[in-house]
Amino acid sequence: MRKSVLVIITASLLNAACFQGQSNEEVTPAKEKIDKIVECDKCDGSGQITRECFLCNGAGSTQGTSMVTERSICITCNGQHRLTCTVCYGRGYQKCSNCGGRKIQCSRCGGIGLIYYSLGGVGEWINCPNCSGNGYEFCFLCGNDGYYACQECGGKGWNNCPRCQGSGLGDYQTNLNTYSTKCNACGGRGYFLEDCDKCDGSGEIKESELD
Ligand SMILES: [Zn+2]
Ligand SMILES: [Zn+2]
Ligand SMILES: [Zn+2]
Ligand SMILES: [Zn+2]
Ligand SMILES: [Zn+2]
Ligand SMILES: [Zn+2]
Repeated sequence: MRKSVLVIITASLLNAACFQGQSNEEVTPAKEKIDKIVECDKCDGSGQITRECFLCNGAGSTQGTSMVTERSICITCNGQHRLTCTVCYGRGYQKCSNCGGRKIQCSRCGGIGLIYYSLGGVGEWINCPNCSGNGYEFCFLCGNDGYYACQECGGKGWNNCPRCQGSGLGDYQTNLNTYSTKCNACGGRGYFLEDCDKCDGSGEIKESELD
């Protein structure tokens, strides 16, 4: 079996040689000397022609892609980590919800701060025990400041973004990363050097072969 295959290959090689007319008997040395040898016009005598790389089309590099997982910017805080407190509008304090920021007149002394205290027909004005003499009811919520630190944001005026917990980063996303690498086929040159097909790489042709 192996022997017959070899025979076929040898025969086809011989056929090809005959077909192209390259057998030695046909080329007479005398005739070759008569023909004028000139520089090959296709390769300018270099014997080589450049052929654009089939893979990178002459660019020398090819585009590759890889998947990369990265986090986007948080869309809720736009990467700012924090959001202005919506309860105090960024002020950091709230008007007291108990007294409304207004001092409430003392119900016992009517705002004077003093009461007339009498014992056994002898009286005197003393500091009102209800308001300690200041004339206003004591507000348990704000201590009569009228305002207190915003309970929502702890007085800062902002809160960590609830979506990203203050990281500023959003969801994980898988993106296609495009990069370019040196072309494998041409080694980054973008072209191949091939023997000129007109002069078979010799750089010279007979004048009669010129177009
Ligand atoms: Zn040539
Ligand atoms: Zn290439
Ligand atoms: Zn956020
Ligand atoms: Zn607040
Ligand atoms: Zn109050
Ligand atoms: Zn009072």
